[in-house]
Amino acid sequence: MTLDFNDVERGIAQIEFYSRDFPLAAIVGVDDETTLIAAKASKALGLPHNAPEAVEATGNKHSFRTRLANSGLPAPRFRLISVDDDPVRAARDSFYPAVLKPLALSASRGVIRADDPAQFATAARRISAILDDADIRGEAASHILVEEYVPGDEVALEGLLEDGLLTVLALFDKPDPLEGPYFEETIYVTPSRLPVHVQNAIAATVNRAVATLGLREGPIHAELRINDEGVWLIEVAARSIGGLCSRALHFGAGGRLEDLILRHALGLPAPPIGLDRPATGVMMIPIPAAGVLRHVVGIEAARALANIDDVTISIPIGETLVPVPEGNRYLGFIFASGDTPEAVEAALRVAHNELEFTIEPG
Ligand code: ADP
Repeated sequence: MTLDFNDVERGIAQIEFYSRDFPLAAIVGVDDETTLIAAKASKALGLPHNAPEAVEATGNKHSFRTRLANSGLPAPRFRLISVDDDPVRAARDSFYPAVLKPLALSASRGVIRADDPAQFATAARRISAILDDADIRGEAASHILVEEYVPGDEVALEGLLEDGLLTVLALFDKPDPLEGPYFEETIYVTPSRLPVHVQNAIAATVNRAVATLGLREGPIHAELRINDEGVWLIEVAARSIGGLCSRALHFGAGGRLEDLILRHALGLPAPPIGLDRPATGVMMIPIPAAGVLRHVVGIEAARALANIDDVTISIPIGETLVPVPEGNRYLGFIFASGDTPEAVEAALRVAHNELEFTIEPG
């Protein structure tokens, strides 16, 4: 059955109609586009769910910042500008360094750092063009969020909420610097190499955030930055990690991340949830240039390397590649596991070096 995620009310009606013949035990959103409709349809059918308002707040970066403003958690200054505002004037009134971003896109699409008014104005114009192209409606189609740039190391937390209680399934370090002007994701490695007290502070921050937002059930994916002043939330999403990244997580008898999520959604007893390998990681392969992907070599050689579990190229030959900030896809994914996070990170870098992409300028 195909649902139009932009027409949530119609989608809910379709799900209700379907469930009359095929009773549903759970509805699980798998990405940013589906979490809201999953929560609302679950509510309509009387299934366990997150409050739609809580899910809605995670789907709009301005609502997210506003909802967390009184939580007592460290947060960057932020303000909303309209695509109709004069960018030169908005730039004059801004704080620096700043990060400009769309309210409702993902995978760092349209997220741009600006260190001065000239960069601000350029970024605002560029994001306006991205919004024109994107399939979004309402406030998010015509506004840009401006946040203070938060320096520091970045981590991603993968968690599962059960009746408001957060279980941390994995904490990923992101060892490549993410300092802008664009913020393309690359390497994720777990377990984190941060000191235990910092890891605890990260979990406490996410706990406070989900409680403030009102999220109580299901998967959580949070991005945070850590610096001398504390732990800073960049984003909390009411879904699991995106792309193919979850393949880096194996929970032994608990199965894969999706098994844990489905068991929770169905109300089945929780299996053991420890990761069954000392260290694992994934690299989202960045798009190095715009153009048409003509040829990829080195996949087999990369797969054959020590500690490499798999290499997947997810964009077919012949397709046009769009780098960030306009694009939101990765060339593919490299998966590694090993005895230590250091070994996993090194394997991912070596495997990436094996790969050669021929891209014909478009
Ligand atoms: P998306 O949902 O598209 O991934 P995010 O808001 O999570 O957008 O931003 C993407 C990335 O941009 C973050 O992972 C982070 O590296 C960087 N970023 C976003 N906001 C800030 C900020 N205020 N300060 C520093 N870096 C930021």
